[in-house]
Amino acid sequence: MEYRMVPPGQHKLPPLPYPTNALEPVISSRTLQIHHDKHHKSYVDGLNKAELHLVEARKRNDFEVIKYWENELAFNGSGHILHSIYWTIIAPQGQGGQPGQQTLAHINAYFGNFNAFKEQFITATEKVEASGWGILTWQPTWGRLEILQAEKHQNLTQWSGIPVLVCDVWEHAYYLDYQNKRRDYINAWWNLINWQEVERRLSLAMSGKVPLTLGNAGRFIYSSQPYPFMPF
Ligand code: MN
Repeated sequence: MEYRMVPPGQHKLPPLPYPTNALEPVISSRTLQIHHDKHHKSYVDGLNKAELHLVEARKRNDFEVIKYWENELAFNGSGHILHSIYWTIIAPQGQGGQPGQQTLAHINAYFGNFNAFKEQFITATEKVEASGWGILTWQPTWGRLEILQAEKHQNLTQWSGIPVLVCDVWEHAYYLDYQNKRRDYINAWWNLINWQEVERRLSLAMSGKVPLTLGNAGRFIYSSQPYPFMPF
């Protein structure tokens, strides 16, 4: 499979797909211009800066301020991704068309009907605490759509990312064995990693599949296929 990698520090501000006055009167030209040229640009710049600092940190094996740069990665990375989506999922009035066949079918299958979906999306978005986003997301693990709120942009994730390797550091995962020595637990846990499964998950993630692995009487059942889709 060919895959294009964005090298560290090489993100670019995408141009708006329409003139800044194209969304008036819903969104003014001034709002759109500042939002895109200033706010979105600062996410792109902040993401590039964080990635380049982390390149240096890896070279020097110096992770003293890792929490700061990881937060910058999440905040600016999610900001860049979500704004890039935001510009393209709106269009000048009258040009957006009607919900497509597949969109409608998935909305109806999971949310019941379009109005229920619309009401939940609008209310969930309204009720985001402070700054954030309402997000209709495809959940590849369950083969369906979901509506989620994002506070700020990120909570230390980058939206659209797919987990490949995860380590649980809630205290319940290690406290009986390691007490407060979290690093000892992580060092020991590292030797347990199933790299074949990591490889398999990476391949699936690269084709947009996020299976759950369910143990069953010593057998593993991989639900790597999306649920068969049932049009209402
Ligand atoms: Mn914004």
